[in-house]
Amino acid sequence: MILGHAHPDVMAAVQDAASRGFSFGTPSENEVLLAEEIVSRVEPVEQVRLVSSGTEATMSAVRLARGFTGRSKVVKFAGCYHGHVDALLAHAGSGVATFALPDSAGVPTSAAGETIVLPYNDVEALETAFAEHGSEIACLITEASPGNMGVVPPEEGFTEALRRVTAAHGALLISDEVMTGFRCSRSGWYGLEGPYSGGAPDLFTFGKVMGGGFPAAAFGGRADIMSHLAPLGPVYQAGTLSGNPVATAAGLATLRGCTPEVYTRLDEVSRTIADAASAALSAEGVPHLVQWAGSMFSVFFTSEGSRPAQTGVVRDYDDARAQDLPAFGAFFHSMLDSGVHLPPSAFEAWFVGASHDDEAVGRVLDALPAAARAAS
Ligand code: PLP
Repeated sequence: MILGHAHPDVMAAVQDAASRGFSFGTPSENEVLLAEEIVSRVEPVEQVRLVSSGTEATMSAVRLARGFTGRSKVVKFAGCYHGHVDALLAHAGSGVATFALPDSAGVPTSAAGETIVLPYNDVEALETAFAEHGSEIACLITEASPGNMGVVPPEEGFTEALRRVTAAHGALLISDEVMTGFRCSRSGWYGLEGPYSGGAPDLFTFGKVMGGGFPAAAFGGRADIMSHLAPLGPVYQAGTLSGNPVATAAGLATLRGCTPEVYTRLDEVSRTIADAASAALSAEGVPHLVQWAGSMFSVFFTSEGSRPAQTGVVRDYDDARAQDLPAFGAFFHSMLDSGVHLPPSAFEAWFVGASHDDEAVGRVLDALPAAARAAS
């Protein structure tokens, strides 16, 4: 909810769209306009197809990559979340090329058996996995800048290594911008880190912000890959409610409302809150780290003696899991008691919205000292 809840422009667009019909089962004008808006913002995205959730977007992108390459294996990183796609739920295991076991009941081993899970920010593990299985790998999917293990941005050159290694083995690179898309910048994470030497990711996925609070998501990328989708190509994908006229009206109004001033405000508010949180925790002697991806950030509660406490950085899922979770819990509940609802997990990003005005920010700042005390 980048513009805040029930933003008047989004409300007006939704009411107008709803007054003309909820669902037609055919493409609608807003669907085309939203697709055009996405294509105009993220330069490597030449064509886009709308779906209804981030899960559908990643699932369809992986199917398309498999259909395009004629291969079946998928590489993902431990700690990255791409929705509840059977093949992508697996995240257990570190070290080199752990063949993943399902991480949820109901996912047969056969559904996750083609998934290779690697540690994030580890170029050596990446190269080893591709040296061993490269000719069988259809794609590598990564959060553009992970937020689902807390914010763990790619280290300098890591995204370029992903591009280099996947291209060398004929595998597609899918950048999952469901969380970062249109939030980190008007062009998402790609707008901050790209264009990459060696080429852009082949496919992108989007969700969350682009639906303005309604179920709208998308995947898109190179036209020669997208042309493999039905009805032109052999890779089937469809959805009764995809491109829904009310959802796309909300998404379009939201993206149009994301002006440069909005992004400047998000950056300012995030910095103010993160700096104050860090100062409050330092005042109580609570060890912590703050990590950033645009205006997204996480406060990690580092455990004494853990690797991040020594290195000063959370670089992968093992680091994220080494957090002092009880300290986070105490901090979270104290904030909640003061009326501030933080993300309810130490493995999430903190987001601000354009509706966080000075009064709201003041309430957050006032709540921080007691929360830091509770965490100490
Ligand atoms: N990809 C990322 C990076 C996400 O953060 C999420 C949701 O949290 C998804 C995919 C799945 O999206 P959805 O919950 O809309 O299915």
